[in-house]
Amino acid sequence: MRVLIAGAGPTGLTLAVDLARRGVDVRVVDKAAEFFAGSRGDGLQPRTLEVFDDLGVLEAVLDAGITMPPPIRAHVAGEFVGEHVMFEPQEPTPDVPYPNGCMLGQSRTEEILRERLAGFGVRVELGTELTGFRQDDDGVDVVLDDAERMRVDYLVGADGGRSFVRKSLGIPFEGTTDESIRMLLGDVAADGLDHDFAHWFGLTPDPRDGIVLTPLSGGEQFQFAAPLVGDPSLAGLQALLDRFSGGMDIRLHDLSWSTVWRPNTRLAERFRDGRVFLAGDAAHTHPPTGGQGLNTGVQDAVNLGWKLAAEQHLDTYEAERLPVAASVLGLSTATLKKYTDGNPEAFRRGTEFHQLGISYAGGPLARDSRAEPGRVVAGDRAPDGPVDEKTRLFDLFRGPHWTTLAFGCPAPGEEHAHRIDGLALEIYDVTPGTIVRVRPDGYIGSIS
Ligand SMILES: Cc1cc2nc3c(=O)[nH]c(=O)nc-3n(C[C@H](O)[C@H](O)[C@H](O)COP(=O)(O)OP(=O)(O)OC[C@H]3O[C@@H](n4cnc5c(N)ncnc54)[C@H](O)[C@@H]3O)c2cc1C
Repeated sequence: MRVLIAGAGPTGLTLAVDLARRGVDVRVVDKAAEFFAGSRGDGLQPRTLEVFDDLGVLEAVLDAGITMPPPIRAHVAGEFVGEHVMFEPQEPTPDVPYPNGCMLGQSRTEEILRERLAGFGVRVELGTELTGFRQDDDGVDVVLDDAERMRVDYLVGADGGRSFVRKSLGIPFEGTTDESIRMLLGDVAADGLDHDFAHWFGLTPDPRDGIVLTPLSGGEQFQFAAPLVGDPSLAGLQALLDRFSGGMDIRLHDLSWSTVWRPNTRLAERFRDGRVFLAGDAAHTHPPTGGQGLNTGVQDAVNLGWKLAAEQHLDTYEAERLPVAASVLGLSTATLKKYTDGNPEAFRRGTEFHQLGISYAGGPLARDSRAEPGRVVAGDRAPDGPVDEKTRLFDLFRGPHWTTLAFGCPAPGEEHAHRIDGLALEIYDVTPGTIVRVRPDGYIGSIS
């Protein structure tokens, strides 16, 4: 089977790794001449780290990233006024091993995914644009750079918010683009600022009226963010900082990326048309409030990967992911509203942002045959838990297979089936004799 992925952002790369490790012949093209070099989506949520664990890139991501949120030092009119955190770091528990997420610039996350992909012999083809496609019952004829033609079994449009694939299919992308809000962003180094902290500078205590510099891992740069229209050059950022810091002696240098951003909140009406799928920003674009965009694209990719590889349950991709994307958009939008209303809660991050509570319960693939289901039901994320002194459930799940857990009873004689005793029964809230089947993407398929 052959799959073409248009777009090598985090969504396309995650899907490519998942397909490549299943032995699918996958080709990844990106129209960009060079790899994207900015920090952009730098907040990796706990569920994304669990996916990265399964895909074999977690260690590299944690090594490269910042796992504890840096405290934010606030200055008003040049005076230090206090320090706060966006959320209190949580201790790992047996069922939630990575409760705090990780901060890593998007370009570095993509680099790590590309390295993993290269390990399967697949390289992203830069400067290669999908310019046309036509599908029939048996496959998709695609055109690259208006020149090269090839036939594939499936095409995935992971080609971002302006998706050529979505537009070519004529799929409506309903929502809003808010012209009233602008954000100036850049990756820049700063002499005179402690890199162990984030720094907020305002003329008044109003959280909407200030500049924040958040440390980026792996160097001395910060992500500079100002809710203003401004000149995205180094001189422009310096002028803003001088004004908002009340003339503190901070020198910016080494600006490697900058952009002016506006909130674009949209959801595709469909995520599938025959043999063509949409994933990531091509299917849903988010305001960055709450850091959900990249994370939701990663989850799309792992929901689609195992289904595509098996050519099974393909209709359930949209049925499962579209409602999730809609609810995540609701969360990002509500957070953006708090921000524009000047509500300080806009800067707090609770567990609702972690994507651990996403569930496909009640969906087309969830089978729970118990008379009285417990706290954890079919369709929920399969929690981690101890198996023995050396092994945990995520070790058993890691890889492209289904896993059968036989709680307090002998495991069936099949591959990837295990007897599970002890604390995991409490975590799964099951009685001895319960059989749980865990899908390749780490969600519970059935409980009986
Ligand atoms: C300022 C900002 C801050 C953000 N912060 C966060 C955050 O903290 N956390 C978070 O989760 N998300 C965040 N996001 C969102 C995140 O960056 C996006 O959701 C994410 O990049 C989407 O990934 P993607 O792979 O779906 O699409 P993209 O990253 O947009 O990648 C699409 C790729 O497709 C390529 N392409 C387009 N058309 C074609 C074609 N015809 N042929 C071939 N290739 C094509 C493009 O060149 C591009 O490389 C932020 C976004 C912005 C703008």
